[in-house]
Amino acid sequence: MSNLIEEINKRRTFAIISHPDAGKTTVTEKLLLYGGAIQLAGAVKGRKADRHATSDWMQMEQERGISVTSSVMQFPYKNVVMNLLDTPGHEDFSEDTYRTLTAVDSALMVIDAAKGVEERTIKLMEVCRLRDTPILSFINKLDREGRDPIDLLDEIEEILKIQCAPMTWPIGMGKRFRGIYHLYNDQVRIFEQVENETAAQGEVIEGLDNPRLDELLGDQAEELREEIELVRGASHAFDLEAFLEGRLTPVFFGSAINNFGLQELLDAFAVYAPPPQCREARERTVCPDEPQLTGFVFKIQANMDPKHRDRIAFMRIVSGQYRKGMTLRHVRIGKDIKIAKALTFLANEREQAETAVAGDIIGLHNHGTIQIGDTFTEGETLKFTGIPNFAPELFRRARLKDPMKMKALHKGLQQLSEEGATQLFRPVMNNDLILGAVGVLQFEVVAQRLKDEYKVACDFEPVSVNTARWVIGPEKEIERFKARVQEHVAYDAADQLVYLAPSRVNLQLMEERWPELQFVATREH
Ligand code: GDP
Repeated sequence: MSNLIEEINKRRTFAIISHPDAGKTTVTEKLLLYGGAIQLAGAVKGRKADRHATSDWMQMEQERGISVTSSVMQFPYKNVVMNLLDTPGHEDFSEDTYRTLTAVDSALMVIDAAKGVEERTIKLMEVCRLRDTPILSFINKLDREGRDPIDLLDEIEEILKIQCAPMTWPIGMGKRFRGIYHLYNDQVRIFEQVENETAAQGEVIEGLDNPRLDELLGDQAEELREEIELVRGASHAFDLEAFLEGRLTPVFFGSAINNFGLQELLDAFAVYAPPPQCREARERTVCPDEPQLTGFVFKIQANMDPKHRDRIAFMRIVSGQYRKGMTLRHVRIGKDIKIAKALTFLANEREQAETAVAGDIIGLHNHGTIQIGDTFTEGETLKFTGIPNFAPELFRRARLKDPMKMKALHKGLQQLSEEGATQLFRPVMNNDLILGAVGVLQFEVVAQRLKDEYKVACDFEPVSVNTARWVIGPEKEIERFKARVQEHVAYDAADQLVYLAPSRVNLQLMEERWPELQFVATREH
């Protein structure tokens, strides 16, 4: 038993949040190298190379297929076990990206030093904020000319509303980039250009006053000493409690492609990032050290082979331990199922681990019986909360090519929306079927899957919806609202009332006009 608790406390379950091209793939690859998972590091690269190629079906299938195995990457580092959950970011950006962030205990934010805080990062931070997830930050590409580091920290503080505590500090940048200084270890690491090393490179110099610094850096040594004094005075000091509450982020600088600055980040990660946390269920709070297994599903992925309709449900284990062959209660449908073989995600071994503990992710094969947000237990009736739907940002109307296929279309859209990458809306005024997503590739994926799996040909046309909000309030007021703005209200797949706003301004107007109603951007499953 104490062994189990020890195993659980080693887990660090996290995701990377960043804007496309900031360096998430490169950072992932290097982290895997540190974990000894060389093979998969190559796979991450391969996947990236494919990404901008044509999105014909095989291509999409391939990408989705590969991303099953790289959806979760587990690797050891020093005395901890990292569970890195992939957050699709380019064309494959979807609601899954958001929801994955509800299944982690911490996140790593990667920022491009030349670009600063970008739009996607802001959105992902908003999602992290729902659970006050602790954030570590890595400012990347210091080997190129970028913005002043102090400006970057100011920008993060101002836009993302989180305090910055620099842990390392860059010595110059671009052509003058000479290394980093660790503010807490009082060590300088000299920059060296290397690729694919499994450990950090570059000479380490103890102490800012060390004359060796002047030898190596010349004038830049004195500049550094002055700058560090300034930085120490003007920035926040690292505060573990504030970090764990999501109010302060420790910041590291480096160059991912040169594997520089990441070791410092990873070392801090292993020490400070939280182990698996307790989690709220409707009935009670569940903590990781409870002996009985509980978990919730945050993502569902279809098989890469369209002929096989099986799906993989990704379950985050909240408490206890998974053992091969155990029986689990699928709480929503009240059924007990024997789990003959769950997928586990060890990145550096061919062989699959047979057990998994709280903090780990396992993949459950199913044919559509499992839905996003479902809870599994060893018999207890529990429903985990905090795995929401997010208001889509893109909308299209389904246009059926063969009117005889209406029923099949309904069924297909309903079932695909249960996988969670898209959402289905039925306006009260007409028979339209409106699909909402947060990533544009999803419409293509749905059209293709409708054809393959449901034999329905359909395409998606633009519709004048800008954003959606679930509407909550007193019943009488809801009825009045529905009657008044009929043309903009719809029901989602779970029969919840939704307002489909034609514009942001219109939404704002509604919020002012209907003060008794709440227009919310997330809905619980
Ligand atoms: P992602 O879209 O966030 O996954 O970003 P990638 O890891 O694919 O990186 C985007 C581009 O930036 C690629 O061309 C990388 O080679 C490049 N890149 C990543 N890290 C660095 C770095 O430290 N320095 C420089 N100069 N380029 C980098």
